[in-house]
Amino acid sequence: MRIHLKTLGCRLNEAEMESWSRGFQARGHSLTEAAEEADLLVVNTCAVTEEAVRKSRKLLNRSSRLNPNARLVVSGCYASLNPDTAAVIEGVDLVVSNQQKERLVEIVEEELDLRVMPQSALEPDATGLLGRGRQRAFIKVQDGCRYRCSFCIVTLARGDERSRPAEEIVAEINRLHHQGVQEAVLTGVHIGGYGDDCGSSIAELIRRILQETAIPRLRIGSIEPWDLPDDLWPLFENSRFMPHLHLPLQSGSDSVLRRMARRCRSDEYRRLVTLARERVPEINITSDIIVGFPGETEAEWQQTLDFVNEIEFGDLHIFAYSPRHGTKAANLPGAVNRELKRQRSQCLHRLNLQMKKKLLKRFLGRALPVLIESGDEKGWGGYTPNYLRVTAKGAEGVDLKNRIVEVEINAIDDQELLLQGKIQGANGGPPGNQIAEGRG
Ligand code: SF4
Repeated sequence: MRIHLKTLGCRLNEAEMESWSRGFQARGHSLTEAAEEADLLVVNTCAVTEEAVRKSRKLLNRSSRLNPNARLVVSGCYASLNPDTAAVIEGVDLVVSNQQKERLVEIVEEELDLRVMPQSALEPDATGLLGRGRQRAFIKVQDGCRYRCSFCIVTLARGDERSRPAEEIVAEINRLHHQGVQEAVLTGVHIGGYGDDCGSSIAELIRRILQETAIPRLRIGSIEPWDLPDDLWPLFENSRFMPHLHLPLQSGSDSVLRRMARRCRSDEYRRLVTLARERVPEINITSDIIVGFPGETEAEWQQTLDFVNEIEFGDLHIFAYSPRHGTKAANLPGAVNRELKRQRSQCLHRLNLQMKKKLLKRFLGRALPVLIESGDEKGWGGYTPNYLRVTAKGAEGVDLKNRIVEVEINAIDDQELLLQGKIQGANGGPPGNQIAEGRG
């Protein structure tokens, strides 16, 4: 999908545009300077003066005239103050308010059904699995993949597996922690294979990081289910190792998994999830699903739906299959048409919402440690250890950004799908201090 971004107004609008461009690119879209060539136009409007409002409206009209075939998304102050008038401007497909701006890329993909398959199913920044920020840093631990999943271009693009020396990784995490980063996420194309080329393993690496750094939170981004080593489970007893696993499933149908050349069938996946939940009761299991893989029949699709329903994931990243030149799947017969892919994807999105709500409800009334990433006295935002979004009120007169605080959960925001609560026991102190931590 080619995307053209345009902004009016202040520096903040420009910074947001920068972050959207990174977000869209990370999810496999490309940017274009030419609005006429784009499939999607995003306009960040301004309302600081009457003149700014006039210019915003003019820009929207011009954009839709210039490229009537592209879908048009509008955000920013003009659109937030006048959502109804903005929505009826000719050509406008979607209005994203300022309150939702941080999630614009995700919302646009969901609402306009734009998700394309990432280059690699495993890179967290490619799937939008975890957000970047001052509090969270991605640490690349390896590159390359030995497998040949039939839809994946990575093996061709990235070559053989190479692990980064553990000393280097530990030193990088220590340096970032010293600079104020509170959470490190280990990433790679195939992190389950870490260490095979240097007599180590991913579990050994995690153990070493926990011993040789004091980083308050450590996560692994995404790991192929068949790669989960047995010695990973005891590591979760350390409350600094976050109870969240992203295990790409891709399909719940064994015949589709075979065509995808995946190494884990539904039975084994089910067994792994059961084991994970037994060993780590608070664990949040999230996954990726590709809909419309070549030849996906109605029966196979139903198997995926049933399996997803049975497993009850904490969140899904849903991708409509798109062929990658040079992969085996690109030559498979039985392409699924666009409309059917759209319907299947929407159906899975609906199921995802139900599953997410159900998971959130489990945490009502609980006190959870939250790493605060954004906000001010009017409301703070952050994540629990098992990567659930939380907004919280309280702690007046204290800057909580980049701190881990305890939040008592008292409500669920059904629209935004996040937990809401009240900050407990916050106190002063320099940024970066922990106020509370423990298993959520
Ligand atoms: S395991 Fe499969 S999907 Fe993952 S990077 Fe390797 S080839 Fe690609």
